[in-house]
Amino acid sequence: MGFAENMAGLRKTIPESIRIVAVSKTLPSDAILSAYQGGYRIFGENKAMELAEKHQQLPSDIEWHFIGHLQTNKVKNIASFVTLIHSVDSPHLLQEINKEALKNDRNINCLLQFHIASEETKFGLNMEEASDMLRAGIHKSCMNVHIIGVMGMASFTEDSSLIRKEFKMLHQYFTCLKTEFFSNEMAFKEISMGMSGDYQIAIEEGSTMVRIGTLLFGNRLNH
Ligand SMILES: *Cc1c(COP(=O)(O)O)cnc(C)c1O
Repeated sequence: MGFAENMAGLRKTIPESIRIVAVSKTLPSDAILSAYQGGYRIFGENKAMELAEKHQQLPSDIEWHFIGHLQTNKVKNIASFVTLIHSVDSPHLLQEINKEALKNDRNINCLLQFHIASEETKFGLNMEEASDMLRAGIHKSCMNVHIIGVMGMASFTEDSSLIRKEFKMLHQYFTCLKTEFFSNEMAFKEISMGMSGDYQIAIEEGSTMVRIGTLLFGNRLNH
């Protein structure tokens, strides 16, 4: 089946209020273009240079989300157009995004990425690091970034109770940050969690945004 059928099928299983980011990493631009021609606009990429190249080649009204680990020296390649960066995992990165946003005379929406998986390899903040950043007022001093929520990736496992526990934890982090730092910020409302294998659990645990690749585009070649 193609993207359009897959999206229609997926959409039926996901409440309207939840956004679907179509993860197009590793796919050629023409695959994205055909999804675009079917009416879809929100795509996610995890490599800055690949994203910059695709942005050049594809229509300008695509809403590009950055979902991978972002090196500070690559921020400049995506700062002029990116809609949402899901993966802020250090104060240094947030400051760099702020600097590049300012240069481009725009605001960039960001999510704080939390490490919720039991695996060591995944990136992300813990609650203490996030609180330290915010207590120091980084969200106020970085005027050109707007922190609108949190993101996390669950463990890669068949154990759905572990996945659920991790998503619950992310939801708790969200609630703590909302209460302590963003209670007056209407825009702080996003919880980006859920991928092809675990999006149903993520939705049950309060996801507002799922990031889906395989279920929409089929299996990727690894790169
Ligand atoms: C690749 C990727 C996804 C999508 O994964 P699928 O299992 O193909 O749906 C979601 N989030 C992140 C951060 C990714 O790197």
